Amino acid sequence: MRSLDEVLRAMPDYRPEGLRVEQARSIIGALVQPVRETERLALRSALGRVLAEDIVSPIDVPGHDSAAMDGWALRGCDLSETGDTELSEIGAAFAGRPFTGELGPHECVRIMTGAVMPRGSDTVVMQEVVRANGSQIVVPAGQHIGMHRRAAGDDVARGEAALHQGLVIGPAAIGLAASLGVAQVNVRRTLRVAFFSTGDELTPLGEPLRPGQVYDSNRHALWAMLTRLGCEAIDLGVVADEPHLLQAALTEGIVRADAVVTTGGASEGEADFTRQIAARLGEVAFWKLALRPGRPFAFGDLRVGDNTALFFGLPGNPVAAMVAFYRLVRPALLVLAGASQTDVPMLRARCLEGVPKRLGREEVLRAVLERGSGGPGVRLTGPQGSGRVSSMCEADCLVVLPPEVAEVRAGDPVDVILLEGLA
Ligand code: AMP
Ligand code: MG
Repeated sequence: MRSLDEVLRAMPDYRPEGLRVEQARSIIGALVQPVRETERLALRSALGRVLAEDIVSPIDVPGHDSAAMDGWALRGCDLSETGDTELSEIGAAFAGRPFTGELGPHECVRIMTGAVMPRGSDTVVMQEVVRANGSQIVVPAGQHIGMHRRAAGDDVARGEAALHQGLVIGPAAIGLAASLGVAQVNVRRTLRVAFFSTGDELTPLGEPLRPGQVYDSNRHALWAMLTRLGCEAIDLGVVADEPHLLQAALTEGIVRADAVVTTGGASEGEADFTRQIAARLGEVAFWKLALRPGRPFAFGDLRVGDNTALFFGLPGNPVAAMVAFYRLVRPALLVLAGASQTDVPMLRARCLEGVPKRLGREEVLRAVLERGSGGPGVRLTGPQGSGRVSSMCEADCLVVLPPEVAEVRAGDPVDVILLEGLA
């Protein structure tokens, strides 16, 4: 693995004061290696886990040529191109109960969706177009050979990789694996992520708030984001601004976890303090990201004995901590988890109001998505002060304005990430 120092030196325009989000992401991306250990799980237990191997289908799905519609199975060569075709019905085929005989000329078989195509047949005409009189069937012109027949292996062919390693297993993947008869899958092990908050002003929940104190909300939001991401979240509590306590907490995190996430103590003045401690345990870069909110950010590669851990130092400001987590920590943890898709889909929507914007930095706004007549639009959730967690809570999406945007006028298209579903 490359060292952080090597990665930084290879970056031509590395400026720790005002580092662009994209640069920070690529530095982090260059360092993170997926965890190697895997485990074999029963299919349902694998929901939300990262697939560790391609799943090659042992069978064709469907396993046989079958009807895609309710109707009659027939020989396409019997169909008249210009007029009615008269056929005699010689039996029926249902899903799970095939017709065992074989069709001769001008014969047909009543068939239901999913039933195996009878021998000799190659076409299904749907019942809506057919006139039936007892076993005498009349098919009008306009039907074609091969219609409404689903070929064996149409969904997944035997020997084909149906699911690819790196996939985060969702309901559709569970269903597809089950359709192949796959009852167990190999997944990467769950990430262990330790986290703590720092700051002498922080009060844990359940204790009365003394003057000048705030409740330690970040640790709970962090727990929630890590848990949703499928990590085992290891809570190391509130750590006072004391060097030996910080070092002890970091050490415990490195020993117990794959990554350590902290909040607070990364801003100017505090950074030196954390820097000295973290520097004893490995390499750490302190950045002022060109990101609002979320400017102070630390990233490192720490070690205690044989134990290593990635280190992410988030700002103390609650909204900044969440934004920095979603923009930088989440994708890094997904790489570490072995996931191949690490970014959430972005969509374009019109910004329904003008917003001041500073050129050269990414700005992330909290907003609500609306369905207007002119397509999707976004409206901000009131004042965007980075301490207002309520602005985050009211929002159902984030507007991401890239550094090159100098101004947003009402009606301009902007990039939007949906918060719903953002694990
Ligand atoms: P800092 O980054 O430590 O300078 O903190 C910036 C602001 O965020 C200050 O107003 C802190 O009181 C607040 N803050 C820091 N840590 C937390 C936390 N864990 N929960 C809630 N607010 C916090
Ligand atoms: Mg602080």
